[in-house]
Amino acid sequence: MAEYDYDLFVIGAGSGGVRAARVSAAHGARVAIAEEYRVGGTCVIRGCVPKKLLVYGAHFAEDLRDARHFGWDVPEQCAFSWPRLRDNVLAEVDRINGAYTSTLESHSVEIIPHRATIAGPNEVLLADGRTVTAERILVAVGARPHVPSCPGHEHGITSNEAFHLEAVPKRILIAGAGYIANEFAGIFHQLGAHVTLINRTDVILRGYDESIRDRLLQISMTKGIEFRFNAEFAGIEKQDDGCLKVSMSNHEPITVDCVMFATGRVPNTEGLGVENAGIQLDEKGAIPVDEDSRTTCESIWAVGDVTNRVQLTPVAIREGQAFADTVFGGKPTRVDYGCIPSAVFSHPPMAGVGMTESEAKTKLGSVKVYTSDFRAMKNVLAGRNERALYKMICDGDSGRVVGLHMIGPDAPEILQAAAIAVKAGLTKDAFDATVALHPSMAEELVLMR
Ligand code: NDP
Repeated sequence: MAEYDYDLFVIGAGSGGVRAARVSAAHGARVAIAEEYRVGGTCVIRGCVPKKLLVYGAHFAEDLRDARHFGWDVPEQCAFSWPRLRDNVLAEVDRINGAYTSTLESHSVEIIPHRATIAGPNEVLLADGRTVTAERILVAVGARPHVPSCPGHEHGITSNEAFHLEAVPKRILIAGAGYIANEFAGIFHQLGAHVTLINRTDVILRGYDESIRDRLLQISMTKGIEFRFNAEFAGIEKQDDGCLKVSMSNHEPITVDCVMFATGRVPNTEGLGVENAGIQLDEKGAIPVDEDSRTTCESIWAVGDVTNRVQLTPVAIREGQAFADTVFGGKPTRVDYGCIPSAVFSHPPMAGVGMTESEAKTKLGSVKVYTSDFRAMKNVLAGRNERALYKMICDGDSGRVVGLHMIGPDAPEILQAAAIAVKAGLTKDAFDATVALHPSMAEELVLMR
C-alpha cells in the first residue's frame, strides 16, 4: 500500500500548476490539484485571455473609423455594447475553464475545489477540514494585484474587477505605468473613457527599451490619454455623487468615476503555511527556489508567479513541464530563461526580446543599433499619423543580434517569429541576407539601417 495519499499534490490550478499536474499524471503519478477559485488561474480567468479579447474588441473603435478611408460607409456614431463584449468574453473564459478542467479529468488528476495550505513537508490541509498527504507538493498559487495602502484604497478596483464592470467608466484613473496599466489604458480609451495614468516615477514600462516606450507614450498622449508622473498616490475620497477624488503628490487632485490599481503583483503566499515546512519567504513574499524549482524543503517545489522569477504564463508553463519531466518523467529538464520574448498589448502593441540598448551598452560595451521608423501602409491610407518603430541591437564585435524591440500594428505576432532568430544567435547579416516579404510591416526586420 502506498505510504502517501498522492504522489503529487499541486496547490493552485493556474498555468504552471495545471501543466505540472497533467504531465506528472501522464508520467504515471497519482496527482491531486487544489484550486480555491476556478481552474485556469490568472491567465485564463482574469488575465491574458480576457484582456486580449478586450483588446480585440476595443480595436474596432479605430478600425471602424479607418474603414471609411477604405471605402466603407460607417455611421458617425457606431453603437457599442459593453455588456455584450463583456459577457461574450466571460463566456469564452468559461469555455476555456471547462477545457482545462476536462484535460485534468481525462488525465485522472483529482480536482479538489478548496483552498489548500501546507501543514508539513508532506501534508496539506484542505479548507473542508481534511488533511491529506503527498510524497511531493508543488506550490503554484500565483500572484495577486498589489494595492497601495493609501486612505480610500477600498474604492479602487484592480484588473480582477475590470472584466466585470457594469459599464465603461466615463473617466478612469489608472495607477501604475506597467503592462496592465498601459494595456487597460488602451482598452478603456478606445471604448470611450477619458483615461489618466499616474505613476510614482517618470517612466512607463520600466525595463522595456527606451525608444520603444517613448514612442508608446507619445502615441498614447496624441490619442488623448493623460499622464501624471512623479505622482505618489495619497488617497481616494468618495464624494456624495459617487465620484472619486484622487489626491497625489506633485499634482492637483483628479475626480473620476473609477480608479484602477495596476501597481504590480505580489506572490499569493499569505497564510499558505510554507513555514510549516521550514520554508522562508524572500523580502517580496515569494518562495525562493533553485534551478529545478525546488524549495529549501526537499519534498516541495514551486513554479510560476509565486516564485517571482519571470511573471509570464509561458514561463510558468515551462517551469511546470520541467518539474514534471524531471521528477516523474525521468528526463531532467531545466528552463532556459535566456531571450524570453514578451509583449504589451497596448494600442499600438509593443514587443521585445533580449537586451535593451542601455542594457547591451552596459553588458557588452560595444554595440550597434539599427532602426526602422515607418508608417504602416494601412495607417497611411487611413490618414492615421502613427509611426511604428523597430530597433535591433547587435553586439558591436560579432554582429550577433542581442535585442529586438518593436512597436506598431501586430508587433507581438511579428516579434514571436523574429525571436527564434535572436534565440538562435543569428547576426544582422543573416537578417539582411533574407529577402524582404513585400509589402509587409515585418519586412522592416530585414531592411533596418
Ligand atoms: P508592472 O511591474 O508591469 O508595473 C507596475 C507599475 O506600478 C510600475 O509602473 C511601477 O512603477 C508601479 N508601482 C510598483 N509598485 C508600486 C507601489 N508600491 N506604489 C505605486 N506604484 C507602484 O506590473 P503590472 O501590475 O502592470 O503587471 C504585473 C506583471 O504581470 C507584469 O510585470 C508582467 O510580468 C505580468 N503581465 C504581463 C502581461 C503581458 O505579458 N502582456 C500583461 C499583464 C501583466 P515604476 O516602475 O515607475 O517604479
